[in-house]
Amino acid sequence: MRAMLLRAARTPLETSEVDLPAPTERQLLLQVRACGVCRTDLHIVDAELDRPKLPLVLGHEIVATVVERGAAARQFEVGERVGAPWLGWTDQTCRYCLRGQENLCDAALFTGYTLDGGYAEYVAADERYCLRLPAKYGDAEAAPLLCAGLIGYRTYRLGGESAERIGIYGFGAAAHIVAQVAVHDGRRVFAFTRPGDTATQDFARRLGAVWAGGSDALPPEPLDAALIFAPVGELMVAALRATAKGGVVVSGGIHMSDIPAFAYRLLWEERAMRSVANLTRQDGMEFMAVAERVPIHTSVESFALDEANQAQERLRHGQVRGAAVLIP
Ligand SMILES: [Zn+2]
Ligand SMILES: [Zn+2]
Repeated sequence: MRAMLLRAARTPLETSEVDLPAPTERQLLLQVRACGVCRTDLHIVDAELDRPKLPLVLGHEIVATVVERGAAARQFEVGERVGAPWLGWTDQTCRYCLRGQENLCDAALFTGYTLDGGYAEYVAADERYCLRLPAKYGDAEAAPLLCAGLIGYRTYRLGGESAERIGIYGFGAAAHIVAQVAVHDGRRVFAFTRPGDTATQDFARRLGAVWAGGSDALPPEPLDAALIFAPVGELMVAALRATAKGGVVVSGGIHMSDIPAFAYRLLWEERAMRSVANLTRQDGMEFMAVAERVPIHTSVESFALDEANQAQERLRHGQVRGAAVLIP
């Protein structure tokens, strides 16, 4: 099969011919119909996440068709469309798994990082971590739901049930999905983009944001929660400055530049700062139910498989409106 291979950090992906993966007991052999390009993929290429299997097939927003099942795989039928997300396997025996936090599993394996992912024509995935996808989304439109949507949703939920005014910093793939869910839930969304990026600010307003501006600006009223989707540590402090008493700043990303020192008074009055790591299968099922109920319009820019490097460069430079998706 054809796959885009990362052979070493900080080198371009190479179009390669590799063996078709053979599914083990609980795995499915999947034919990839679409695979999203996530900011995390860039962190892996750039060695900011430094423990990938090598050579590696990136990609953890996989929409695919089941073409073969391992001997003990029975959850999905051959021919069925499934999604394979970032969480690819957990041990179910460590202290985190035992208390329902498999997202923090000590031995977890991740799709497109420590397992081969979806920048390829085929991929093998453990069926226990695959998800059914709402039929109303096309393949390319469904791909960003699998990380941008899922991790975005976990980030949003950690912003708190009672958060009414939600700030979103970094208005890319995750933000454009979460904003629609938040607006549908009756929250008010304040969108923060790179200063001067009026096109993305207009995009945010079209999705229902009540206010949009540069990340260097303060919102017209303080926020109950701020969700950070850009890997820029300064935004954690900017967002803290914009929150009301009891507000929370949640980082949805897996990597971020250092957070600068800040005065304790910004954190005082029970403000909090936290991160989100990975996802649980429960998150996956809950979010797909949300995606079924809420009409989410995912904005996608499609690329051929061998254009993966170009897709990543466009993402790196903030040139993708919504999400970039590879179509093998
Ligand atoms: Zn575990
Ligand atoms: Zn991702």
